[in-house]
Amino acid sequence: MSTVLALAVVSRVHGHGASEVHALRGISFTAYAGELVAVMGPSGSGKSTLLTLAGGLDTPTSGTVSIEGRDLGGLGHADRARLRRSSIGYVFQDFNLIPALTAAENVALPRELDGERPRAAKKLARAVLEEVGIGDLADRFPDEMSGGQQQRVAIARAVVGERRLILADEPTGALDTETGEEILKLLRARCDAGAAGVLVTHEARHAAWADRVVFLRDGIVVDQTSSAPVDALLEPGLTR
Ligand code: ADP
Ligand code: MG
Repeated sequence: MSTVLALAVVSRVHGHGASEVHALRGISFTAYAGELVAVMGPSGSGKSTLLTLAGGLDTPTSGTVSIEGRDLGGLGHADRARLRRSSIGYVFQDFNLIPALTAAENVALPRELDGERPRAAKKLARAVLEEVGIGDLADRFPDEMSGGQQQRVAIARAVVGERRLILADEPTGALDTETGEEILKLLRARCDAGAAGVLVTHEARHAAWADRVVFLRDGIVVDQTSSAPVDALLEPGLTR
């Protein structure tokens, strides 16, 4: 199994002096190609901090974050931004689409920022929208789509161009149960196709789609399942 994401003894302290918050305290974490890892834990336990560090959107106070063997801390700003756009896809709870762009334009944007020709980027965007089941909505604007449809666009944007790492922070939080399950199925399919996925979720039934669950509390890993027994966490009937 090839390692896509590796955090080695990572800490993140926000603020200074009396207002210091230790969001992560020496966490080590790995995600392999083909694997979906669920991260669970109470509010404030450091889940979002873990994801922003993994995505190169924030830098650790100490420790290292590597993507496919490249230490993000060793890269300059421009190289880090390039690696982020080419290798890492991010899915947020509130979709984060650009309202002035159509679905296809939202998905094409990261490719265009990477220098791909607009026509080629749009063509690829349409193909990925087709893949996530909303090819017919490519020319709609976000406010002309339901929440579930918008989240499909966000997933298409996160996976376009063979990205190797998909980070999803409570991506189903704003969706009804059935739509949430469909979004999880899409994430699962991308991991089965070879990406590494990290999913922050509150819901055990969503974690059931993962190969492994990591539990955080107060910025440390307090427990984790090995690959098989995720289903054992759940009541009968909730397994996939
Ligand atoms: P979770 O996603 O598990 O709810 P977070 O990673 O968002 O947890 O937050 C972990 C801790 O770090 C919390 O105590 C939170 O208040 C604090 N924190 C997160 N981001 C910041 C920030 N930018 N500045 C100060 N404190 C922060
Ligand atoms: Mg959070």
